[in-house]
Amino acid sequence: MLYKELVEVYEKLSATTSKLEKRDILSDFFARIPEDILPFVTGLLSGYVFPKWTEKELGIGPRLLIKVISKVTGISEYKIDEYIISSGDFGEGIEIAIRQKKQQTFFDINIEISYLKDIFEKVSLFQGKGSQDKKINYLSELFSAASALEARYLSRTILEQMRTGVAEGIILDAIAKFSGIPKPEVEKSYLLTNDLGLVALYSKKGKDELNKLDIVVGRPIKPMLAQTIGSIEIALEEIDEPEMEIKYDGARVQVHKSGDVIKLFSRRLENITEALPEVLSELKTTLIPETILCEGEVVAYKDGKIAPFQYVLRRLRRKYQINELSEKIPLRLFLFDCLLVDGKSLIESPLKERRSILLSSVKESEIVRIAENIVSNNPVDIKNFYNKSVSEGHEGIMVKDYNSQYQPGARGKKWLKIKRTMETLDLVIIGAEWGEGRRKKWLSSLLLGIRDDEGNFLPIGKVATGLSDELFTEITEQLTPLILEEQGKIVTLVPKIVVEVLYDEIQYSPKYESGFALRFPRVLRVREDKDAYDADTISKVYELYESQEKTF
Ligand code: AMP
Repeated sequence: MLYKELVEVYEKLSATTSKLEKRDILSDFFARIPEDILPFVTGLLSGYVFPKWTEKELGIGPRLLIKVISKVTGISEYKIDEYIISSGDFGEGIEIAIRQKKQQTFFDINIEISYLKDIFEKVSLFQGKGSQDKKINYLSELFSAASALEARYLSRTILEQMRTGVAEGIILDAIAKFSGIPKPEVEKSYLLTNDLGLVALYSKKGKDELNKLDIVVGRPIKPMLAQTIGSIEIALEEIDEPEMEIKYDGARVQVHKSGDVIKLFSRRLENITEALPEVLSELKTTLIPETILCEGEVVAYKDGKIAPFQYVLRRLRRKYQINELSEKIPLRLFLFDCLLVDGKSLIESPLKERRSILLSSVKESEIVRIAENIVSNNPVDIKNFYNKSVSEGHEGIMVKDYNSQYQPGARGKKWLKIKRTMETLDLVIIGAEWGEGRRKKWLSSLLLGIRDDEGNFLPIGKVATGLSDELFTEITEQLTPLILEEQGKIVTLVPKIVVEVLYDEIQYSPKYESGFALRFPRVLRVREDKDAYDADTISKVYELYESQEKTF
């Protein structure tokens, strides 16, 4: 199958805003894609090259790509920057550059999708020193063959900026339609595998095959999430048999053990095994079953006390001298759930049973522990437990339905959280401004975006104050490689970095495209554990706005 055919589909998808039409375009296309490239093409349609859990990535940012295009076309990087700025879109800027070149040389070579897959695989293998040149060579070969229109979509794919408005939901609808398998079954297998390509492939093979897909050790699943609730009383109205756990303020970790091999994954499903050596070695002696998939929160301790969340992040980010840092910032892991034991999935078992299996599967130690809990529906007991948690420096409590199943990826009412702080919003930095004077080297004024249901990021506020020098430096370092366009001091960014933002009030505002503005927003921290698609959505802003209306 040729890449050209996929580009035609992208074009059709971009030409309509109707979700039903998008679904139909995709479903017709799915029916035609050969099985050997179906998982790959499904990824490209959904906007990624490799499923996240595979740990593979292209590692190509906007600057490197512009270098490639400059090499292929002979047009200067500066000029290509100009095309990007004047068209207002990265992909279109690249398209203009390639079109100019093609006017002189004329011929395109048909790109087979299997060839593209091969190139991407190879590029992903180059890492570290000297890898850039090799990446540039492979990509130059690809872009020399591409037509101008193909180049537009290739560059968007490489930067994972598809803009065709195809969210996961539409892909799942399309898979259900082309395969004739009911949507809930398709959805369920997606939640269990976290891999749209795999779901598309098994759906093509038939319903029985699809239903064989299950959670497996080694492939992380989307974590079950919690809803915020204002008080213990409301929580008790929601849940008949509640179990309360300490809400630890750290980073979520999924532990996958199979024999001697243990892998740790973050909430974003990245492999973080190497960052946590002491936790890893401790897990080798504390986890009893041969195969087990369990979950917990890793928390930093300093001088015997709980340390702020940032310490955990430093540990997770660190690639070198890990042992040195692990002495300075020791960690503990508090396990709270168990999803699979000895090959048997437990996600349909009630929490009560999962917890009891967890207890008998772990030999607790100094570093690896089981999350502290109580089971009670007496508000006084719960309040005492909450007070104890907060006084020990934790974030609050989780109130969980003891009879509930584990629902991957769901933020339902089976898990509720009562946090000590006021509600914050996790927003994405979509633009920024270079500072002046002392702040010259920093991207200091940050434009914050809120995610809508289509996967767009709409401006909701600007924040320029309240950040420490350390945080400004850290944010600038992270944002600089994401610059898409620069106009004077103002830059547009690839929406990637998520920050937790505290504010005084949410106001209606015609000034911003989201329709809302935040009053006195302050950045609390970078949420390294989330990526743009885990950030909060506009519907949460609506909810907070409504609840605020009631309290003000
Ligand atoms: P939030 O990040 O505010 O949405 O809160 C949910 C997060 O709390 C989860 O993703 C976990 O990382 C964390 N957490 C801490 N303690 C627990 C616990 N006992 N049970 C579940 N999640 C917990």
